[in-house]
Amino acid sequence: MKKIPKIKLTQAPLIMAFLKNIIPLRDDMPFDIEMLKHLTLIGMCGCGQKDCATITCRYIKEWNEDLKGSWGVNTNQGIIILHFLNKGIFELEAIDYEQFPYRSEVQRLLHKNYIKPTPKEYEKLDRYFKYLKEENMNVVNLGEIE
Ligand SMILES: [Zn+2]
Repeated sequence: MKKIPKIKLTQAPLIMAFLKNIIPLRDDMPFDIEMLKHLTLIGMCGCGQKDCATITCRYIKEWNEDLKGSWGVNTNQGIIILHFLNKGIFELEAIDYEQFPYRSEVQRLLHKNYIKPTPKEYEKLDRYFKYLKEENMNVVNLGEIE
């Protein structure tokens, strides 16, 4: 894991927007969008693969038992798994897709560059969700992984 200088997720508008769109796709997940405000971005996966945009965050406290575990969303534009782990760790596993719209933002943050996203990046974000249709998605509860 590449360590990111600890920053509040609210300082990463593309990741915030991405998660705000992804989380409601799982209507069985007891995660409130408001909770995003209390996440700190602490790292990104160091595998170096172009089709991976996995990031790690920390929540202010331990997760509720009913939220703990891994929640998958197959968007057909990469595989996304939300992991709610011990000690309030949240991992957004995003793999198998080269165009995750917040990837460039994370790379900037790694270099302590806090400039705002460009209009082009917002277009990429819109494109990602534009073609996401509920009927094309599989939703799988993977249970708890320790
Ligand atoms: Zn990776």
